[in-house]
Amino acid sequence: MTSNVAHLPFPALRDAQIHPPMSESDAQFEANRCLYCADAPCMQACPTHIDIPEFIKKIGSGNLTGAAKTILKSNFLGGTCARVCPVEELCEGACVLNKTERPISIGRLQRHATDHLASKGVQPFEPGEPTQKKVLVVGSGPAGLSAAAHLAQLGHEVEIWERKELAGGLSTYGIITLREPIEVAQHEVEMVKALGVKVHTNTELRDSNHLRELAEQYDAVFIGTGLGGVPQLEIPGGEKIVDGLEFISEFKTNPEFALEPQRVAIIGAGNTAIDAATTARQMGAQATVVYRRTPAEMTAFDAEYEFATNFGIEFQFLANPAEVVTDDKGNVTGLRCTRMKTVEAGADGRAGVQPSGEEDIIIPCDLVLSAIGQVKYDDETGFGLNLERGYFATSDFASSGPLSNVFAGGDAIRTRGDASTVMAVQDGKLAAEQIHQYLEGK
Ligand code: SF4
Repeated sequence: MTSNVAHLPFPALRDAQIHPPMSESDAQFEANRCLYCADAPCMQACPTHIDIPEFIKKIGSGNLTGAAKTILKSNFLGGTCARVCPVEELCEGACVLNKTERPISIGRLQRHATDHLASKGVQPFEPGEPTQKKVLVVGSGPAGLSAAAHLAQLGHEVEIWERKELAGGLSTYGIITLREPIEVAQHEVEMVKALGVKVHTNTELRDSNHLRELAEQYDAVFIGTGLGGVPQLEIPGGEKIVDGLEFISEFKTNPEFALEPQRVAIIGAGNTAIDAATTARQMGAQATVVYRRTPAEMTAFDAEYEFATNFGIEFQFLANPAEVVTDDKGNVTGLRCTRMKTVEAGADGRAGVQPSGEEDIIIPCDLVLSAIGQVKYDDETGFGLNLERGYFATSDFASSGPLSNVFAGGDAIRTRGDASTVMAVQDGKLAAEQIHQYLEGK
């Protein structure tokens, strides 16, 4: 992306954290509050089914390495998930202590254990007995890394192809530093490499012919390529809009990157919109999230919305972007929006919106970011795989279609729209088991 480099207004914020680490005494206190429930609801609510009471018990007895191994056995990216999981909606939301007091801080305890392991440089697992089977994993985001880690532990020879310069996918490029610094994602990549997995960066799966060739060269191929960038908004001046994910990525990977614009408008209402707005705030700009519906229809988690308002991010609801306004030199000066009003809910239960007939508003800004979802696959970009509404069509992670040794997982198959890091990690783990069964001829 093109950017205006200037002095960063609030440099200290680059290293700030939303969930800071716990001290050993705080972790002990918190671990000893846990009731170690049988059939623990927190564990059921975790998509990767980490044995939460078990790892908390180990923290309580001072066995931090053992606690981290319990976590990573179920979720190889436990360090990332400790930071980015919407715990209020998952494990902590299900904790029985919600009924009487506050839930156990499961996410922060998980971070405490996995940070300990990382600081000691301990490699938690060993590669399995060699099977002489070769598996290619395309994409090094959470699904790809998780699949590779499990396949290597099952004894398969695994290579990862990553088209970008650094491995780690969204953990490296798309999660804001306040939540996850890049070093955490890179450490997880190193843990996967330590299992003997070869990671080739700047290496891309090109097209359907290329995939056919690779399916012949390898015993199995796993595709965990996620989705594309943000689609362009077809409004006058839309070409001036910057992809919100690229903006976050630039901030994470380029220490020189700083904002000249002081007022940023962010289009969208999901977690990425809030993350892009948060990054703009971190860089000292005023940030306004613009959404054509009401707060009730936002897809961002409640905790994210609350965090955003506390972080000084402003919101303009019932405002539909209609034009990026520029001055006679082509510099962005505002975002013109049509005022909307709610109408009766549609079949999906979401309140509909339509223009209210009021005068348009102009939100003054020097930069417009977009975070209105990601581009899905089509016949040209889908590597020749069967598609379902723009996602790879799979059954038990095996792609439907003629290439019987090609599997897929993560956001690229997440047709239900509830994509998240932890779901991608679980996909990678389950897909690895399916691939193993396939390679064993079962
Ligand atoms: Fe501990 Fe809460 Fe899980 Fe029970 S539900 S095991 S108290 S974290």
